[in-house]
Amino acid sequence: MTVAAATDKLIRPHGGFLVDRTGERPGDVESLETVTITSREASDLDMLASGALSPLLGFMGEDDYRGVVEDMRLHDGLPWALPVCLAVDAAPSGDRVVLAGEDGTQLAVLEVESVYAYDKEREAEQCFRTTDAEHPGVARLYAQKPLYLAGRVTVFERATPPFPELALDPADTRRTFAERGWKRVVGFQTRNPIHRAHEYLTKGALETVDGLLIHPLVGDTKSDDVPAATRVECYRVLVENYYPAGRVVVAAFPAAMRYAGPREAIWHAICRKNYGCSHFIVGRDHAGVGSYYGTYDAQLIFDEFEPHELDIEPMFFEHAFWCKVCGQMATPKTCPHGGDDHIFLSGTKVRELLSAGEVPPTEFTRQEVAEVLIEAYRP
Ligand SMILES: [Zn+2]
Repeated sequence: MTVAAATDKLIRPHGGFLVDRTGERPGDVESLETVTITSREASDLDMLASGALSPLLGFMGEDDYRGVVEDMRLHDGLPWALPVCLAVDAAPSGDRVVLAGEDGTQLAVLEVESVYAYDKEREAEQCFRTTDAEHPGVARLYAQKPLYLAGRVTVFERATPPFPELALDPADTRRTFAERGWKRVVGFQTRNPIHRAHEYLTKGALETVDGLLIHPLVGDTKSDDVPAATRVECYRVLVENYYPAGRVVVAAFPAAMRYAGPREAIWHAICRKNYGCSHFIVGRDHAGVGSYYGTYDAQLIFDEFEPHELDIEPMFFEHAFWCKVCGQMATPKTCPHGGDDHIFLSGTKVRELLSAGEVPPTEFTRQEVAEVLIEAYRP
């Protein structure tokens, strides 16, 4: 069987086809007006190029934008949870512009379709469920330029991936899954090192499907999140020592964090569908920040769509812990014992231990992972 035929077994991309917006560098690039994009927009651009944001062909026009902000749907009715927009100060003069990164590297040509004004507070209220400028996603939105520039993109210079060995586009992960004969694949989004709790739930999910995609986000995150390079090393030692190689793929998810909680959970799921995942793990407070979202909001939001409308199946999980009485990892769903019997450390507590050079208990973190973190936290 050819790979092309084999990939037909996998879930269809969102909207039915995998977009490819890569192309040749046009000869007239030097004559075009340059629009400099932010690193978050550059992440989106690269995901447009690879089809991770299928069916989007470029930065959103006003119809799609309004549909997404108000109803979580593109203009044609397809579910979509977060704006993918490019903010500018003024309308360009020509009908094509070249998009350049903050370092001046020319990346893509955008065919100008429209330029429109948008309401930042409305977008914040709808997408982030708050207009509080202290929220990191809202703060980024409020700092944006005042107009959105819409149009299809053709990307001729892909961003240099920070972790080349993990740089798999949707077409690559789909090919990999197909080569392994997988049909049902669960995706796991993370922006943290994987401790025992998340190891437990990824393995719990893997028990019911063919394969697991560990898909750490490596785009922009808050400065107090663990740096991506440290996390990637944690994933490497964990998978090497504790997961069967034939059942797991680790790849980088190039998105920037928006911290939009529930809506970002939907958006993350749709993106992973494009990578070929049929299932997607949604934990408590997925993509949340501070106390802006309720514990289960990111799970409940999936009920706002009709069954099978998203196609990708969410798998909901509770926080897991080590229970001394059960003698194993468990959650409130599976363990009747009280908190005193559970080993669960807060992120703050873990950071304190690591900063002091202390190894967290093995019931909380695998030794190999702890060693990587201690090394990274060494002053
Ligand atoms: Zn127990």
